[in-house]
Amino acid sequence: MIKKASLGISVILLSFILLNSAPAQADNPVVPVTVKQLTVLDSSVEASFPALLNFKIKAAGPANISDIRLHYVIDKESFARITSEVYIDFVPGTSVNTQWIWDMRKTGGLPTGASVKYWWTVKDISGNKVETAPASISFDDNRYAWNSLIENKLTIYWYSGDMSFARELMSAAQEALTRLAKDTGAYLKAPVKIYIYANTRDLQGAMIFPQEWTGGSNFPEFGIITIGIDSNRLDWGKGALAHELTHQVVHQVTRNPYINLPTWLEEGLAMYNEGTLDASFVGVLKLALANNSLISVRSLASPFSANTNTALQSYAQSYSLLEFLVTTYGQARMLDLLTTFSQGSAYDSALKKVYGFDMDGLNALWLPYVFKRYQIAQPKTASLPPLFIRMVNEFAAGFVPDSRLAFLSGAWR
Ligand SMILES: [Zn+2]
Repeated sequence: MIKKASLGISVILLSFILLNSAPAQADNPVVPVTVKQLTVLDSSVEASFPALLNFKIKAAGPANISDIRLHYVIDKESFARITSEVYIDFVPGTSVNTQWIWDMRKTGGLPTGASVKYWWTVKDISGNKVETAPASISFDDNRYAWNSLIENKLTIYWYSGDMSFARELMSAAQEALTRLAKDTGAYLKAPVKIYIYANTRDLQGAMIFPQEWTGGSNFPEFGIITIGIDSNRLDWGKGALAHELTHQVVHQVTRNPYINLPTWLEEGLAMYNEGTLDASFVGVLKLALANNSLISVRSLASPFSANTNTALQSYAQSYSLLEFLVTTYGQARMLDLLTTFSQGSAYDSALKKVYGFDMDGLNALWLPYVFKRYQIAQPKTASLPPLFIRMVNEFAAGFVPDSRLAFLSGAWR
């Protein structure tokens, strides 16, 4: 599941932090340079993935250099372009050789493959100013020698396993995109990069604060998925890839600055597009039906519970809701629903506009369907738990591990 929470906010905070705290910097010994006008002699950046970017500059001029600033923009989808500006702390002089280190352990990190554009402005006490041309760095996980395989808008990067391993994952990913387009009309508009780590341990080395259960991460604003797939768990990998890729497509199709999708729709699309519901989820769903302990559609619109069993049931129910909507009302209505959400519509009004019922109406129609589907008698007194409505997370970028990947990666099972 994608929790859209942190990076967008953290980037905005980041600008503030950078502007208001002394950046880590260290002046190197200055070699006197004689130049006739204010000049940037050298500019470079060194990456130490996943924690550091070290920006370096050498500048000289006839008058004392008094002001150096680094400007950078993270290449990601956003509704407002954010340029961060760093005031460099240095000893003024006619020749300056200094650096600024972006320590992501303090600010939050970037995924492998993220690109950062940067440039410098330098001023002297005579009022002269120079600005360097923008340059870019790709913040790659260079601990490994990556191979790449490109097909249509997808690129798979991998370093362990042969070409047939990558081809098998690629065809599973392409099939998932075809299936999604057939069921929902949604398709990938922008490229997606998929980084396949050999295992969970390698993947966690790409994270600044890894959690032991993390099996993958999804970064829709960057068009990047990172996932650990052991070659002897290929089937799990294919399902997880289909799931995460669906989140990318749905993000591209529905992005708007106002509202996220209801969680049952977001996760239901991803679950449904994996293919047949896994037996363990079927078991959870049947148990909930037998116990008459289903969670209401309205509750499932909020982020899912952190409780493992409740989360599993939420995913299983979301699958079933999507199956119900797609098989009963068809592709065109689902595309219509996604399009309506892309315009920022509220949950009930979007459903009402497209299907003629709101979330409670959906609940009422889905109940007999799901009892019949799993051949469990619907209790006459079937009732729903009290409504549990929470504010859905505000729109923002996602930099939080996908919880489904998390619990399927092993440790939660
Ligand atoms: Zn998910």
